Amino acid sequence: MRKPIEPPHYPCLEMGPRMLLGPGPSMVHPRVLQAMAGPVIGHLDPAFLQVMDRIQDMLRYVFQTQNPLTIPVSGTGSAAMEAAVANSVEPGHPVLVCVGGFFGGRLAEMARRYGGDVQTLECPWGEVIDPQQVRKALENRPAKVVAIVHGETSSGVQQPLEGLAQLVHDQGGMLLVDCVASLGGVPLSVDELDIDICYSGSQKCLSVPPGLGPITLGPRAEQVLRDRPAPVPNWYLDLSMVQKYWGAERTYHHTAPISANFGLYEGLRMLCEEGLEASWARHQRNAEMLWAGVEALGLALHVAGEHRLPSLTTVRVPQGVDEMTVRRRLLQEFNLEIAGGLGELKGKVWRIGLMGHSSRTENVKLLLAALEEILRSERP
Ligand SMILES: *Cc1c(COP(=O)(O)O)cnc(C)c1O
Repeated sequence: MRKPIEPPHYPCLEMGPRMLLGPGPSMVHPRVLQAMAGPVIGHLDPAFLQVMDRIQDMLRYVFQTQNPLTIPVSGTGSAAMEAAVANSVEPGHPVLVCVGGFFGGRLAEMARRYGGDVQTLECPWGEVIDPQQVRKALENRPAKVVAIVHGETSSGVQQPLEGLAQLVHDQGGMLLVDCVASLGGVPLSVDELDIDICYSGSQKCLSVPPGLGPITLGPRAEQVLRDRPAPVPNWYLDLSMVQKYWGAERTYHHTAPISANFGLYEGLRMLCEEGLEASWARHQRNAEMLWAGVEALGLALHVAGEHRLPSLTTVRVPQGVDEMTVRRRLLQEFNLEIAGGLGELKGKVWRIGLMGHSSRTENVKLLLAALEEILRSERP
């Protein structure tokens, strides 16, 4: 007989709290953690169905939309991104993806995998896409779907969206917007901007642990979904089926992550208590404090003032400083996490997130003091 495999014995988890000032996850309020620690109940329990209805209602407030199809996808922001793409892109359809950073690139890659005939409109990481470029690109080649990132976490840019939907709709397409890093922290109104598909993630400005990806589909997107000649090629993320569980039918599709939804419920409840405008103003205020403090340390911000994303700031690494050493010391000596650059900005910038419960004045002050102390010894 084969020797049985013995069980490994590990210590019980003991995570000291960290100050999370990176691109997500952001810090989670104790009220959210407490909500998640409650007993698990059935996914068709009337008490859970009520939680679902209320989550949808609060999500509509946060997205500023009346769209009936507004739900949290079971999965992180990338799952919501994939749901957005899988449910809107059809094989052979022309798709225009605006790419000003890492996540624009991911959108383009997903659209290709779902058979879209993808054209990209690129800008340097740190700049915005000009709507006139979108107009020109669509004049040359109309697109069924135009995808763009509102808050590009890799570059620290806030992409203006005004007037884009009109351009896209006039030539018969749909506008798809990634607001993973901006929803709840940066002004955005889905209905006012006439966005057709918009998605986010729980762990950025909503300050809930990673695991859910809120998404909303407007009437055009619902119509396209209904008219599809073939089913959505991704079974798990097929919103026409998922909708039957979140809608009146309550048909089982997959087991909802119960505890994760409890956390989202409480996180959204806190955002509703604070009010969207107050949350947007808090994110802006703390970001401005960070920007001023960073510049006072003699560091340069990567993005021009008018296009900076309040929830995520890119700071240029000064000559002669090893960016990794600074981050390691922030974590070891101050228990504080920030991130390095991604893609073409790797090694060139630090990425500092002030999202949700992380966006607090005391956190900004602590980070600035810690950075000052470390840079004093690391600068040549
Ligand atoms: C974080 C992020 C994503 C991906 O979300 P995950 O939760 O990591 O899957 C997508 N887009 C943007 C802009 C993001 O910041």
